[in-house]
Amino acid sequence: MSETIKTDVVIIGAGPVGLFAVFELGLLDIKAHLIDILDKVGGQCAELYPEKPIYDIPGIPLITGHGLTGALMEQIKPFNPTFHLGEMVTTVEKIGDPLFRVGTDRGKVLEAKVVVIGAGGGLFQPKRPPIPGIETYESKSVHYAVRNMDAFRDKRLLIVGGGDSALDWTLNLQPVAKRLTLVHRRDEFRGAPDSVNKMRALVAAGAMDLKIGQVSALEGADGELAAASIKGNDGSVTRVECDAMLPFFGLTMKLGPVADWGLTLKDNLIPVDTAAFETSILGLFAIGDINTYPGKLKLILSGFHEGALMAQKAYHYVYPEKRLVFQYTTSSTSLQKKLGVA
Ligand SMILES: Cc1cc2nc3c(=O)[nH]c(=O)nc-3n(C[C@H](O)[C@H](O)[C@H](O)COP(=O)(O)OP(=O)(O)OC[C@H]3O[C@@H](n4cnc5c(N)ncnc54)[C@H](O)[C@@H]3O)c2cc1C
Repeated sequence: MSETIKTDVVIIGAGPVGLFAVFELGLLDIKAHLIDILDKVGGQCAELYPEKPIYDIPGIPLITGHGLTGALMEQIKPFNPTFHLGEMVTTVEKIGDPLFRVGTDRGKVLEAKVVVIGAGGGLFQPKRPPIPGIETYESKSVHYAVRNMDAFRDKRLLIVGGGDSALDWTLNLQPVAKRLTLVHRRDEFRGAPDSVNKMRALVAAGAMDLKIGQVSALEGADGELAAASIKGNDGSVTRVECDAMLPFFGLTMKLGPVADWGLTLKDNLIPVDTAAFETSILGLFAIGDINTYPGKLKLILSGFHEGALMAQKAYHYVYPEKRLVFQYTTSSTSLQKKLGVA
Protein backbone atom coordinates (compact mmCIF):
# COMPACT_ATOMS: atom_id res chain seq x y z
CA MET A 1 0.00 0.00 0.00
CA SER A 2 1.21 3.53 -0.79
CA GLU A 3 2.30 6.01 1.88
CA THR A 4 -0.40 8.02 3.64
CA ILE A 5 -0.83 11.51 2.16
CA LYS A 6 -1.30 14.13 4.89
CA THR A 7 -3.12 17.36 4.11
CA ASP A 8 -5.46 19.92 5.72
CA VAL A 9 -8.64 19.10 3.80
CA VAL A 10 -9.77 16.33 1.47
CA ILE A 11 -12.57 17.30 -0.90
CA ILE A 12 -14.54 14.40 -2.32
CA GLY A 13 -15.74 15.46 -5.78
CA ALA A 14 -14.19 17.97 -8.19
CA GLY A 15 -17.49 19.41 -9.44
CA PRO A 16 -17.95 23.19 -9.59
CA VAL A 17 -18.69 23.34 -5.87
CA GLY A 18 -15.65 21.28 -4.85
CA LEU A 19 -13.47 23.45 -7.10
CA PHE A 20 -14.70 26.74 -5.64
CA ALA A 21 -14.24 25.37 -2.11
CA VAL A 22 -10.50 25.22 -2.90
CA PHE A 23 -10.59 28.99 -3.41
CA GLU A 24 -12.38 29.76 -0.15
CA LEU A 25 -10.08 27.38 1.78
CA GLY A 26 -7.00 28.74 0.02
CA LEU A 27 -7.75 32.30 1.13
CA LEU A 28 -7.54 30.94 4.68
CA ASP A 29 -4.20 29.16 4.06
CA ILE A 30 -5.85 25.75 3.99
CA LYS A 31 -4.43 23.21 1.53
CA ALA A 32 -6.76 20.83 -0.27
CA HIS A 33 -6.59 17.54 -2.14
CA LEU A 34 -9.54 16.71 -4.44
CA ILE A 35 -10.58 13.23 -5.49
CA ASP A 36 -12.98 12.47 -8.33
CA ILE A 37 -13.92 9.25 -10.06
CA LEU A 38 -14.11 11.12 -13.38
CA ASP A 39 -10.92 11.59 -15.35
CA LYS A 40 -11.66 15.30 -15.57
CA VAL A 41 -12.76 18.13 -13.28
CA GLY A 42 -16.08 20.01 -13.45
CA GLY A 43 -18.61 17.35 -12.35
CA GLN A 44 -22.01 17.67 -14.03
CA CYS A 45 -20.96 20.88 -15.88
CA ALA A 46 -18.12 19.05 -17.61
CA GLU A 47 -19.77 15.68 -18.04
CA LEU A 48 -23.44 16.41 -18.71
CA TYR A 49 -23.59 19.84 -20.35
CA PRO A 50 -20.16 21.18 -21.37
CA GLU A 51 -21.56 23.14 -24.35
CA LYS A 52 -24.80 24.38 -22.75
CA PRO A 53 -25.00 27.99 -21.60
CA ILE A 54 -25.57 28.69 -17.91
CA TYR A 55 -27.31 32.03 -17.27
CA ASP A 56 -27.45 32.24 -13.48
CA ILE A 57 -23.88 32.47 -12.26
CA PRO A 58 -23.77 35.82 -10.42
CA GLY A 59 -22.06 38.51 -12.45
CA ILE A 60 -21.59 36.28 -15.51
CA PRO A 61 -24.54 36.67 -17.91
CA LEU A 62 -23.63 33.59 -19.95
CA ILE A 63 -21.02 30.85 -19.61
CA THR A 64 -20.97 27.22 -20.76
CA GLY A 65 -20.38 24.27 -18.44
CA HIS A 66 -16.95 23.88 -19.98
CA GLY A 67 -16.25 27.61 -19.67
CA LEU A 68 -17.24 27.70 -16.00
CA THR A 69 -15.00 24.73 -15.23
CA GLY A 70 -12.06 26.43 -16.96
CA ALA A 71 -12.70 29.72 -15.14
CA LEU A 72 -12.84 27.96 -11.77
CA MET A 73 -9.57 26.16 -12.51
CA GLU A 74 -7.98 29.52 -13.35
CA GLN A 75 -9.35 31.06 -10.16
CA ILE A 76 -7.94 28.33 -7.88
CA LYS A 77 -4.56 28.16 -9.61
CA PRO A 78 -2.81 30.27 -6.90
CA PHE A 79 -3.70 27.62 -4.31
CA ASN A 80 -2.18 24.75 -6.27
CA PRO A 81 -4.57 21.99 -5.18
CA THR A 82 -3.67 18.35 -5.75
CA PHE A 83 -6.07 16.34 -7.91
CA HIS A 84 -6.56 12.59 -7.77
CA LEU A 85 -8.69 11.93 -10.85
CA GLY A 86 -10.09 8.61 -12.02
CA GLU A 87 -10.31 7.52 -8.38
CA MET A 88 -13.31 6.71 -6.25
CA VAL A 89 -13.39 7.45 -2.53
CA THR A 90 -14.53 4.23 -0.93
CA THR A 91 -13.96 4.87 2.80
CA VAL A 92 -14.07 7.81 5.20
CA GLU A 93 -13.21 6.96 8.82
CA LYS A 94 -12.99 9.32 11.77
CA ILE A 95 -9.72 8.55 13.58
CA GLY A 96 -9.21 11.71 15.69
CA ASP A 97 -10.82 14.84 16.99
CA PRO A 98 -11.20 15.78 14.20
CA LEU A 99 -8.95 13.70 11.97
CA PHE A 100 -10.12 11.53 9.10
CA ARG A 101 -8.67 8.71 7.05
CA VAL A 102 -9.91 8.60 3.46
CA GLY A 103 -9.33 5.59 1.21
CA THR A 104 -9.71 5.24 -2.55
CA ASP A 105 -10.36 2.29 -4.85
CA ARG A 106 -6.79 2.60 -6.11
CA GLY A 107 -5.32 1.97 -2.66
CA LYS A 108 -4.47 5.59 -1.83
CA VAL A 109 -4.84 6.70 1.79
CA LEU A 110 -5.15 10.35 2.80
CA GLU A 111 -5.36 11.85 6.28
CA ALA A 112 -6.92 15.27 6.92
CA LYS A 113 -8.42 17.23 9.78
CA VAL A 114 -11.40 18.11 7.62
CA VAL A 115 -13.26 16.21 4.92
CA VAL A 116 -15.66 17.98 2.59
CA ILE A 117 -18.13 15.83 0.68
CA GLY A 118 -18.88 17.57 -2.61
CA ALA A 119 -20.18 14.42 -4.27
CA GLY A 120 -23.06 16.15 -6.10
CA GLY A 121 -25.55 13.76 -7.65
CA GLY A 122 -23.21 10.88 -6.78
CA LEU A 123 -20.74 8.83 -8.73
CA PHE A 124 -20.64 9.01 -12.48
CA GLN A 125 -20.41 5.39 -13.47
CA PRO A 126 -20.10 3.89 -16.93
CA LYS A 127 -23.13 2.07 -18.29
CA ARG A 128 -22.47 -1.64 -18.77
CA PRO A 129 -23.53 -2.97 -22.17
CA PRO A 130 -25.94 -5.92 -22.10
CA ILE A 131 -23.42 -8.61 -23.11
CA PRO A 132 -23.74 -11.93 -21.25
CA GLY A 133 -20.79 -12.55 -18.89
CA ILE A 134 -19.11 -9.17 -19.51
CA GLU A 135 -18.50 -8.69 -15.78
CA THR A 136 -16.02 -11.59 -15.69
CA TYR A 137 -13.70 -9.63 -18.02
CA GLU A 138 -14.09 -6.20 -16.37
CA SER A 139 -10.88 -4.49 -15.25
CA LYS A 140 -8.71 -7.27 -16.78
CA SER A 141 -9.60 -6.92 -20.44
CA VAL A 142 -12.84 -4.92 -20.56
CA HIS A 143 -12.28 -1.29 -19.54
CA TYR A 144 -14.68 1.62 -19.30
CA ALA A 145 -11.96 4.28 -19.14
CA VAL A 146 -8.43 4.66 -20.41
CA ARG A 147 -6.06 5.45 -17.57
CA ASN A 148 -2.86 4.64 -19.41
CA MET A 149 -2.72 4.44 -23.21
CA ASP A 150 0.44 2.37 -23.08
CA ALA A 151 -1.52 -0.50 -21.51
CA PHE A 152 -3.10 -0.98 -24.97
CA ARG A 153 0.11 -0.84 -27.00
CA ASP A 154 0.31 -3.61 -29.63
CA LYS A 155 -3.03 -5.05 -28.54
CA ARG A 156 -6.02 -5.93 -30.72
CA LEU A 157 -8.66 -3.51 -29.50
CA LEU A 158 -12.39 -3.39 -29.83
CA ILE A 159 -13.98 -0.02 -29.12
CA VAL A 160 -17.76 -0.03 -28.83
CA GLY A 161 -19.99 3.05 -29.13
CA GLY A 162 -20.85 5.98 -31.37
CA GLY A 163 -20.38 9.08 -29.20
CA ASP A 164 -17.44 11.38 -28.60
CA SER A 165 -15.69 9.09 -26.10
CA ALA A 166 -15.74 6.13 -28.49
CA LEU A 167 -14.51 8.26 -31.40
CA ASP A 168 -11.86 10.17 -29.43
CA TRP A 169 -10.37 6.97 -28.05
CA THR A 170 -10.54 5.35 -31.48
CA LEU A 171 -8.43 8.19 -32.89
CA ASN A 172 -6.03 8.25 -29.94
CA LEU A 173 -5.52 4.51 -29.64
CA GLN A 174 -5.43 3.59 -33.32
CA PRO A 175 -1.71 4.51 -33.69
CA VAL A 176 -0.85 2.56 -30.52
CA ALA A 177 -2.92 -0.59 -31.08
CA LYS A 178 -1.89 -3.58 -33.16
CA ARG A 179 -5.33 -3.45 -34.80
CA LEU A 180 -8.39 -1.48 -33.81
CA THR A 181 -12.01 -2.26 -34.59
CA LEU A 182 -14.79 0.23 -33.85
CA VAL A 183 -18.23 -1.31 -33.37
CA HIS A 184 -21.41 0.75 -33.51
CA ARG A 185 -25.01 -0.37 -33.90
CA ARG A 186 -25.66 1.92 -36.86
CA ASP A 187 -23.62 3.72 -39.48
CA GLU A 188 -24.38 7.14 -37.99
CA PHE A 189 -22.42 8.67 -35.14
CA ARG A 190 -23.35 11.14 -32.40
CA GLY A 191 -19.75 12.30 -32.00
CA ALA A 192 -18.16 15.46 -33.46
CA PRO A 193 -18.30 15.44 -37.29
CA ASP A 194 -14.55 16.11 -37.49
CA SER A 195 -13.81 12.96 -35.45
CA VAL A 196 -16.24 10.93 -37.59
CA ASN A 197 -14.46 12.11 -40.76
CA LYS A 198 -11.04 11.25 -39.34
CA MET A 199 -12.24 7.79 -38.31
CA ARG A 200 -13.77 7.14 -41.75
CA ALA A 201 -10.51 8.22 -43.40
CA LEU A 202 -8.59 5.67 -41.30
CA VAL A 203 -11.07 2.95 -42.29
CA ALA A 204 -10.77 3.92 -45.99
CA ALA A 205 -6.96 3.78 -45.70
CA GLY A 206 -7.18 0.27 -44.22
CA ALA A 207 -5.64 1.44 -40.92
CA MET A 208 -8.58 0.26 -38.78
CA ASP A 209 -11.93 -1.57 -39.10
CA LEU A 210 -15.49 -0.39 -38.61
CA LYS A 211 -18.22 -2.96 -37.92
CA ILE A 212 -21.90 -2.08 -37.81
CA GLY A 213 -23.76 -4.22 -35.30
CA GLN A 214 -23.77 -5.14 -31.64
CA VAL A 215 -21.39 -7.23 -29.57
CA SER A 216 -23.46 -10.30 -28.71
CA ALA A 217 -20.95 -12.64 -27.05
CA LEU A 218 -17.43 -12.73 -25.65
CA GLU A 219 -14.88 -15.55 -25.67
CA GLY A 220 -11.89 -15.92 -23.40
CA ALA A 221 -10.61 -17.40 -20.15
CA ASP A 222 -9.55 -16.11 -16.70
CA GLY A 223 -10.79 -12.62 -17.48
CA GLU A 224 -8.66 -12.34 -20.64
CA LEU A 225 -10.61 -11.75 -23.83
CA ALA A 226 -9.83 -13.76 -26.96
CA ALA A 227 -12.64 -12.75 -29.33
CA ALA A 228 -16.02 -11.06 -29.60
CA SER A 229 -19.03 -11.95 -31.74
CA ILE A 230 -20.66 -9.05 -33.53
CA LYS A 231 -24.23 -9.47 -34.65
CA GLY A 232 -24.98 -7.37 -37.71
CA ASN A 233 -28.34 -5.71 -38.28
CA ASP A 234 -29.08 -8.39 -40.93
CA GLY A 235 -28.62 -11.13 -38.29
CA SER A 236 -25.21 -12.29 -39.53
CA VAL A 237 -22.51 -12.88 -36.88
CA THR A 238 -18.83 -11.96 -37.35
CA ARG A 239 -16.10 -13.10 -34.97
CA VAL A 240 -13.36 -10.56 -34.23
CA GLU A 241 -10.25 -11.62 -32.32
CA CYS A 242 -9.30 -9.10 -29.65
CA ASP A 243 -7.24 -8.69 -26.49
CA ALA A 244 -9.24 -5.84 -24.96
CA MET A 245 -12.63 -4.20 -25.31
CA LEU A 246 -13.51 -0.60 -24.42
CA PRO A 247 -17.29 0.01 -24.32
CA PHE A 248 -18.37 3.69 -24.21
CA PHE A 249 -22.11 3.63 -23.54
CA GLY A 250 -22.36 6.82 -21.49
CA LEU A 251 -22.55 7.34 -17.77
CA THR A 252 -25.18 7.02 -15.07
CA MET A 253 -25.15 8.60 -11.64
CA LYS A 254 -25.60 6.66 -8.43
CA LEU A 255 -24.96 7.54 -4.81
CA GLY A 256 -22.12 5.06 -4.33
CA PRO A 257 -20.10 4.63 -1.14
CA VAL A 258 -21.32 7.90 0.52
CA ALA A 259 -24.04 5.78 2.11
CA ASP A 260 -21.40 3.80 4.06
CA TRP A 261 -19.68 6.69 5.86
CA GLY A 262 -21.71 6.65 9.07
CA LEU A 263 -24.13 9.44 8.12
CA THR A 264 -27.90 9.20 8.36
CA LEU A 265 -29.09 10.18 4.91
CA LYS A 266 -32.41 11.78 4.01
CA ASP A 267 -33.67 10.77 0.56
CA ASN A 268 -30.07 9.86 -0.37
CA LEU A 269 -28.85 13.36 0.61
CA ILE A 270 -26.72 14.43 3.56
CA PRO A 271 -28.46 16.64 6.15
CA VAL A 272 -26.30 19.60 7.24
CA ASP A 273 -26.63 22.70 9.40
CA THR A 274 -26.88 25.99 7.55
CA ALA A 275 -24.29 27.83 9.65
CA ALA A 276 -21.35 25.85 8.28
CA PHE A 277 -22.80 22.99 6.19
CA GLU A 278 -21.33 20.50 8.63
CA THR A 279 -22.82 17.04 8.99
CA SER A 280 -23.67 15.25 12.23
CA ILE A 281 -19.96 14.25 12.40
CA LEU A 282 -17.78 17.20 13.47
CA GLY A 283 -15.18 18.06 10.85
CA LEU A 284 -17.11 16.28 8.09
CA PHE A 285 -18.88 18.79 5.82
CA ALA A 286 -21.20 18.34 2.82
CA ILE A 287 -21.64 21.07 0.21
CA GLY A 288 -23.34 21.33 -3.19
CA ASP A 289 -25.97 19.01 -4.63
CA ILE A 290 -25.24 16.20 -2.14
CA ASN A 291 -26.54 18.08 0.93
CA THR A 292 -30.01 18.92 2.16
CA TYR A 293 -31.45 21.52 4.53
CA PRO A 294 -34.69 23.51 4.67
CA GLY A 295 -34.94 25.64 1.54
CA LYS A 296 -32.05 23.96 -0.31
CA LEU A 297 -31.80 24.81 -4.02
CA LYS A 298 -29.63 22.58 -6.18
CA LEU A 299 -27.89 25.48 -7.87
CA ILE A 300 -24.23 26.17 -8.41
CA LEU A 301 -24.49 29.53 -6.64
CA SER A 302 -25.88 27.84 -3.50
CA GLY A 303 -22.89 25.49 -3.50
CA PHE A 304 -20.49 28.42 -3.76
CA HIS A 305 -22.08 30.08 -0.70
CA GLU A 306 -21.94 26.80 1.20
CA GLY A 307 -18.22 26.45 0.40
CA ALA A 308 -17.49 29.92 1.80
CA LEU A 309 -19.20 29.21 5.12
CA MET A 310 -17.70 25.72 5.32
CA ALA A 311 -14.19 27.21 5.00
CA GLN A 312 -14.77 29.59 7.93
CA LYS A 313 -15.59 26.66 10.23
CA ALA A 314 -12.93 24.37 8.76
CA TYR A 315 -10.33 27.01 9.69
CA HIS A 316 -10.95 26.37 13.39
CA TYR A 317 -10.24 22.66 12.98
CA VAL A 318 -7.11 23.22 10.90
CA TYR A 319 -5.76 26.10 13.03
CA PRO A 320 -7.40 25.63 16.48
CA GLU A 321 -4.97 28.05 18.13
CA LYS A 322 -5.53 30.92 15.67
CA ARG A 323 -8.20 33.63 15.51
CA LEU A 324 -9.87 34.16 12.12
CA VAL A 325 -10.15 37.75 10.93
CA PHE A 326 -12.72 38.41 8.22
CA GLN A 327 -11.20 40.16 5.17
CA TYR A 328 -12.21 41.31 1.67
CA THR A 329 -10.12 40.40 -1.39
CA THR A 330 -10.56 43.99 -2.66
CA SER A 331 -8.86 45.57 0.33
CA SER A 332 -6.69 42.94 2.05
CA THR A 333 -3.06 42.96 0.92
CA SER A 334 -2.57 39.67 2.71
CA LEU A 335 -5.32 37.99 0.64
CA GLN A 336 -4.01 39.63 -2.53
CA LYS A 337 -0.53 38.21 -1.82
CA LYS A 338 -2.04 34.75 -1.56
CA LEU A 339 -3.71 35.35 -4.92
CA GLY A 340 -0.42 36.49 -6.40
CA VAL A 341 -1.75 39.94 -7.33
CA ALA A 342 -0.02 42.14 -4.74
C1 LIG B 1 -28.49 19.53 -17.78
C2 LIG B 1 -28.22 20.31 -16.53
C3 LIG B 1 -28.27 21.70 -16.55
C4 LIG B 1 -28.01 22.43 -15.40
N1 LIG B 1 -28.08 23.81 -15.45
C5 LIG B 1 -27.79 24.54 -14.35
C6 LIG B 1 -27.86 25.97 -14.38
O1 LIG B 1 -28.18 26.57 -15.40
N2 LIG B 1 -27.53 26.66 -13.24
C7 LIG B 1 -27.19 26.03 -12.06
O2 LIG B 1 -26.87 26.69 -11.07
N3 LIG B 1 -27.15 24.66 -12.01
C8 LIG B 1 -27.45 23.92 -13.11
N4 LIG B 1 -27.42 22.54 -13.04
C9 LIG B 1 -27.11 21.92 -11.75
C10 LIG B 1 -25.61 21.99 -11.45
O3 LIG B 1 -24.88 21.35 -12.51
C11 LIG B 1 -25.30 21.33 -10.12
O4 LIG B 1 -25.98 22.06 -9.12
C12 LIG B 1 -23.82 21.32 -9.84
O5 LIG B 1 -23.11 20.57 -10.80
C13 LIG B 1 -23.54 20.75 -8.46
O6 LIG B 1 -22.17 20.79 -8.27
P1 LIG B 1 -21.45 19.78 -7.25
O7 LIG B 1 -20.00 20.16 -7.30
O8 LIG B 1 -22.18 19.82 -5.96
O9 LIG B 1 -21.71 18.33 -7.84
P2 LIG B 1 -21.37 17.61 -9.27
O10 LIG B 1 -21.28 18.60 -10.36
O11 LIG B 1 -22.39 16.52 -9.37
O12 LIG B 1 -19.94 16.99 -9.00
C14 LIG B 1 -19.76 15.97 -8.04
C15 LIG B 1 -18.55 15.14 -8.39
O13 LIG B 1 -18.31 14.21 -7.34
C16 LIG B 1 -17.82 13.01 -7.90
N5 LIG B 1 -18.03 11.94 -6.92
C17 LIG B 1 -19.18 11.57 -6.31
N6 LIG B 1 -18.95 10.58 -5.43
C18 LIG B 1 -17.61 10.32 -5.48
C19 LIG B 1 -16.76 9.38 -4.80
N7 LIG B 1 -17.23 8.52 -3.88
N8 LIG B 1 -15.44 9.36 -5.14
C20 LIG B 1 -14.94 10.21 -6.09
N9 LIG B 1 -15.71 11.11 -6.76
C21 LIG B 1 -17.03 11.17 -6.44
C22 LIG B 1 -18.61 12.85 -9.18
O14 LIG B 1 -17.92 12.03 -10.10
C23 LIG B 1 -18.72 14.32 -9.65
O15 LIG B 1 -17.72 14.66 -10.58
C24 LIG B 1 -27.69 21.78 -14.17
C25 LIG B 1 -27.62 20.38 -14.15
C26 LIG B 1 -27.89 19.66 -15.31
C27 LIG B 1 -27.80 18.15 -15.24
